[in-house]
Amino acid sequence: MPKVTLANGKTVEVECLSCALTSGLITPDGGVVIETDYFHAHQDVAYPIKGLIILASKRHIKCFDELTDEEQADYITLLVKIRKAQRKILGIEYVYYFYNEDTTHHFHTWMVPRYEWMYEFGRSVESLRPVLLYSRNHLNNDANMQEVRSAIKKLAEELNR
Ligand SMILES: [Zn+2]
Repeated sequence: MPKVTLANGKTVEVECLSCALTSGLITPDGGVVIETDYFHAHQDVAYPIKGLIILASKRHIKCFDELTDEEQADYITLLVKIRKAQRKILGIEYVYYFYNEDTTHHFHTWMVPRYEWMYEFGRSVESLRPVLLYSRNHLNNDANMQEVRSAIKKLAEELNR
């Protein structure tokens, strides 16, 4: 089974990280932002980007065409709801969406807010990895982490009103 190192440094063995998260076996550092019958949204603070959200299905599926009608409707509703909250609460103007079906986990969509500093890494898919690595290596400081955690809290409040 793959070993997963959590943001707090703990290592756990899980069959599927997404299953472990969405079933509540692992509580994401920072907490769950919103949860429905079919989906689960949290921030992975290992990438300390304010407002970054990972939206995962609760079922262990990998491909878009495996979503049921109910899941499809819930997915788009939730995606829009989270996007609206990012704009309203955090003033996020643009978001990049990333989702790969050949994941080692299961169905999850990255919602990566676009900040000014990211443009030096490019304007499209090629910038995603450098942006994530940069955040992990250079933004992992107390001041930024505090901002990230406060943003998670505010998003969760807005989404669960
Ligand atoms: Zn899974």
